[in-house]
Amino acid sequence: MLTAKAEIDLNALQHNFNVIKQLSPRSKIVAVVKGNAYGHCATTVAKTLSAADAFAVARIEEAVTLRQAGITHPIILLEGCFCAADLNTAAEFKFQPVIHHAGQLADILSTTLASPLKVWLKIDTGMHRIGIYPEQVAHYVSQLTSSKNVIGEVGFVSHFYQADELSSATTLEQLTRFSATTAPFPGEKSLSNSAGVLYWSDAHFDWVRPGIALYGISPRAESNGIDEGLLPVMTLKSQLIAVREHKAGETIGYGGHWVAERDTRIGVVAMGYGDGYPRMAPAGTPVLVNGRKVALVGRVSMDMMTVDLGPASHDQAGDEVILWGNGLPAEEVARHIGTIAYELVIKITNRVQRQIIST
Ligand SMILES: *Cc1c(COP(=O)(O)O)cnc(C)c1O
Repeated sequence: MLTAKAEIDLNALQHNFNVIKQLSPRSKIVAVVKGNAYGHCATTVAKTLSAADAFAVARIEEAVTLRQAGITHPIILLEGCFCAADLNTAAEFKFQPVIHHAGQLADILSTTLASPLKVWLKIDTGMHRIGIYPEQVAHYVSQLTSSKNVIGEVGFVSHFYQADELSSATTLEQLTRFSATTAPFPGEKSLSNSAGVLYWSDAHFDWVRPGIALYGISPRAESNGIDEGLLPVMTLKSQLIAVREHKAGETIGYGGHWVAERDTRIGVVAMGYGDGYPRMAPAGTPVLVNGRKVALVGRVSMDMMTVDLGPASHDQAGDEVILWGNGLPAEEVARHIGTIAYELVIKITNRVQRQIIST
């Protein structure tokens, strides 16, 4: 029997895609499935989202995995090729690399490819992580357009760094800089991540690039996806493997830092940091047991964690536990732990079987 599992709800995934489509009706959608679709299983997600116009990943290996699973959509490499040899792989599998620095430009200009590539230029409009400066764009476009290795118009991408802050002036500055920089060129334009899709409708351009919103999670730390009309795709589940009487004054688990203030009953859950549940989760982090919110107590260990069921509880070994998802937003758990839900879902390890749910 499956103990720790991550249910992946394909109806919720399709619902979230439809919400994004309605919010950006004039844009094509590149569904971001990097990091094994943020821990949700990239090939399953890509097969479900056949209505997407393209997929995007961070590493070329992730793109190869999608092609080998039979995905024929355009696939964008968000950080491009990391070495000249990868350009041949990109040509073989028809990937669309981003170009964000001089070395990548030099590689594509100097390599002999079996077939030409569609490419995207990454412009740094203010994030200052990767991308060329606006004043370099004309030079890059003319070099790429005249290369035999490039087919079609060069597309343009940039990335927001504060779009989850609804009153952020920097987002409008990035938007203005992106518009002005790309206006002289005919290629397609793409700026919005999930936060751009949800909160900055002027920033949708030709292609939107949602990731986290597809999975039903809010890009804002302060809100839950459910408040944005999204449905959680992953529900992380396990079960109680023991229920124990626990006396006031007794500690629990490694380190012995948590001390019970009253006699109570403790539930032992088959879920630990070996499954990707954060070891740093503090006492008080919520867990759903039989649909009731209870508090994590003691330190999360590799394969188990302990929760305070309360003295009057009737839960038993074998009962269902939900760590996040339906009934308990991952965003809420993340706020207790001091991280974002992106990190929670992507870190679930392979020991946790993904179980596909669809009707
Ligand atoms: C990851 C990523 C996205 C998706 O971001 P979300 O916040 O998950 O929507 C979009 N564009 C780029 C370049 C990315 O790296």
